[in-house]
Parts: sequence; structure tokens; C-alpha cells
Amino acid sequence: MQNIIDVKSIVNESKEKLKIEIDKLKKENIHPKLAVILANNDSASQIYVNKKRKMCEELGIIDEEYILDESVTTEKMLEIINKLNKDKSVDGILVQLPVFSHLDEKLILNTISPQKDVDGFHPENLGRLLIGEDTIVSCTPKGIMKIIDSLGEDLTGKNAVVIGRSRIVGKPIACLLLNRNATVTICHSKTKNLENYTKNADILIVAVGKASLVKKEMIKDGAIVIDVGINRIDGKIKGDVDTLNVVDKVKYITPVPGGVGLTTVLSLMENVVEVAKRRK
Ligand code: NDP
Repeated sequence: MQNIIDVKSIVNESKEKLKIEIDKLKKENIHPKLAVILANNDSASQIYVNKKRKMCEELGIIDEEYILDESVTTEKMLEIINKLNKDKSVDGILVQLPVFSHLDEKLILNTISPQKDVDGFHPENLGRLLIGEDTIVSCTPKGIMKIIDSLGEDLTGKNAVVIGRSRIVGKPIACLLLNRNATVTICHSKTKNLENYTKNADILIVAVGKASLVKKEMIKDGAIVIDVGINRIDGKIKGDVDTLNVVDKVKYITPVPGGVGLTTVLSLMENVVEVAKRRK
């Protein structure tokens, strides 16, 4: 269907451009490198790390992995991160979340140098985003903007509704949309009468983690819907939007799977390359 956004093509096109930039950097003896730290036994995290590794390989980004078992301490994690912060050959540092529950996740994330924080989770980078300064933007929101930009829509004055207020998706995407002059409303689990907001949304971003939370009657005719949710239902991946029933009502919608998840990994690669360019 034409109104289901072909995210794969958007990503493939961007990958080609990125490859050219990486090859140029290599000619200048700059070899972009990403360090990934995995400190959990979560199978979904392992899948994400594999996806990142695969795209690094495809693009020619060096991928250095630190796979840590449950005996790892917060001190050890900080030691690894501090070493990577100082290593001039490392452009990006990523700690795959969640980490083992005995670890101090906040301290670990805040120890990553903001200049190498390719996930864009450091308070300094989030603060810059809030005040509209140039910064490393977290991967999922950055990818969502790439999808929206591919549609060629002017966001000025549009009603954008974001469902979800997490640090990794909801809040940063709301900032990005605001910086583009959309009128932004953020909804969350305590929002009363969610549909009162969603019905007025020209752009609806759903980042909750509840399958089929958003139904046809909650959507405005001709809306652009970005479904961020990933829910595993009976062995299948489903989004937060009841896509089958809303597809005829919307102007555009992202599929799940094959949607925002693809641009998230791409954005990570773009962030690594952006940091690598600063070496010049
Ligand atoms: P969080 O659990 O951190 O946040 C979920 C948000 O949804 C919270 O703000 C919560 O509100 C809100 N919420 C929960 N229930 C409702 C409800 N009934 N109505 C309205 N709002 C509600 O999740 P994330 O932001 O990390 O992720 C959201 C989803 O996106 C997940 O499915 C995740 O797997 C997926 N995801 C996908 C990515 C991709 O690349 N495709 C990347 C990152 C995430 P409150 O704050 O009040 O608790």
C-alpha cells in the first residue's frame, strides 16, 4: 500500500551516502570506530547488538565489543568507559540497555564522554537538544525525523502528538518536532482521554510498548503516524498502532517490523561518522 512508508528504501539510500562519507574519511586515515558494551543476558539486547554489528560490517565501521558477564562491577564498567573516552581511535561509545540490575546505570551512562555519546543519552547532549543547539541526537528520534523529512512535509504549525515521555524516545522527539515549529503535545500513562489529543494530531508518534493501543477512531483523517512500539505477540513483532484497521484513514504510516527500528540503527552509524569527522 502506498501510504505505508517504505522505510527500507529510505535506509538503503542513506546507507549509500554514508558509505561514500566513510570511504572519504578512510582516505584521510580516519577509520570510524564504535565501541559497544553489553552487560546483560537479555536476548532482545543481543539481537540489537547483532544488528548494529551487521550494519557496522556493511558500512566499514570498526566495531569493538565488550561482552561482560554478571560478575562485572560498576567500577569495572567505569574503568572500561574511561579508557575508551581517552582512546583517540574510538569515536562512539554505546552501552546497550538495560545493564545488569546491580549496576549503576545512571552513573555508567553519565561517565561516557558527551563527545562520544553516540546514543545521545548524556544529560549534556539532551540539554543541548532542549535549547535547540547542535548536538548528538539520540538514534530513534533522529531516525523518526529522517522518515518524516523523507515525506517532504512542512511541520510548521502542525499539531504533533507524542504518546510516551521516555528519555530515549518521547521527550527527545517532542523537542525535535518543537524545534521544527510544530505545536507539540506529549501524552503519557496519566493522560486522561487520550483520544481527545490523538484525534487532533496531524502527526502522531506512538512510543509506548502496548500492542494496538491506538485504534482507528483515535486517529485524524489524513494523519501521519509513526509507530515506534515493539511488542512480541505470539512470536510476531507488532507495533503500538492497529495498523491493519487504520491504514486506509492515514496519509502515511510506518510499518512494524521494518520501520523505525531500521532508521534507529542507521542513525547510530550516522552519529559515529559525525563524531569521526570531528577528528579532522
Ligand atoms: P518506556 O517504557 O520508557 O516509556 C513508555 C511510555 O509510554 C511512558 O512515558 C508511559 O507513560 C507511556 N504509556 C504507558 N502506557 C500508556 C498508556 N496506556 N497511554 C499513554 N501512554 C502510556 O518505553 P520506551 O520509550 O523506551 O519505548 C517505547 C516503545 O518503543 C517500546 O515498545 C520499545 O520497545 C519501542 N522502542 C522501539 C525502538 C525502535 O528502534 N523501533 C527504539 C526504542 C524503543 P509514563 O511515563 O506515565 O509511565
